[in-house]
Amino acid sequence: FLGLLEQDLAAAKPDLVRKDMERIGEAADRMALLLDDLLELSRVGRVVNPSALHSVEELVHRALEAVSGRLAERGVVVEVLPGLGNVYGDGPRLVEVFQNLLENAVKYMGEQGNPRIEIGVMPREDGIVYYVADNGIGIEPRYRETIFGLFNKLDPRSEGSGIGLALIQRIVEVHGGQIWVESEGKGKGSVFCLRFPPAPRIGGDDV
Ligand code: ADP
Repeated sequence: FLGLLEQDLAAAKPDLVRKDMERIGEAADRMALLLDDLLELSRVGRVVNPSALHSVEELVHRALEAVSGRLAERGVVVEVLPGLGNVYGDGPRLVEVFQNLLENAVKYMGEQGNPRIEIGVMPREDGIVYYVADNGIGIEPRYRETIFGLFNKLDPRSEGSGIGLALIQRIVEVHGGQIWVESEGKGKGSVFCLRFPPAPRIGGDDV
């Protein structure tokens, strides 16, 4: 665009010059965003807050508070199911995990007329699995793993830099957990699942 700017200036086309400058400004803003996200990524796993036992419900509510503006703006109904239990780890980082999933759920709601997010827990054979489910645009099965890659996004025009899921995957793995997505495909919503190791019992031998 700098090249175009030069041409448009030489041709004395002020309207085009203004457009070129807008594009350059937008690109610079995106670059700044990308750098912020990269910085954030490099911090994960280094700055570690002391681990403690946290009520998952409380972590979720902190995350909901942080994204309350966007939820209200899109008219999203959020349901937090009871019985979420506890998780052992770095509180602020865990809030970040839920916050990121909530932000994505809103971002990728698509045209859905009754946007809904449900947060709950499902007992599975191999431990307790938390989930954040939305009824948005969904994810085709073949992209279930790629979306966790750095800078990977399914729609190049969407906002964001494709770093969020890579970032929270790292946070979850640092906690000895796993994250994956389940979706029946395009338009069928997405269910992001989180499995953490069982929280130690307070006062137990294993704390
Ligand atoms: P970003 O949102 O910045 O693009 P993420 O790493 O958070 O980056 O997500 C990667 C991609 O995964 C998104 O660009 C989007 O295509 C897809 N995605 C993430 N969350 C959802 C969701 N809840 N529903 C549908 N697609 C999603």
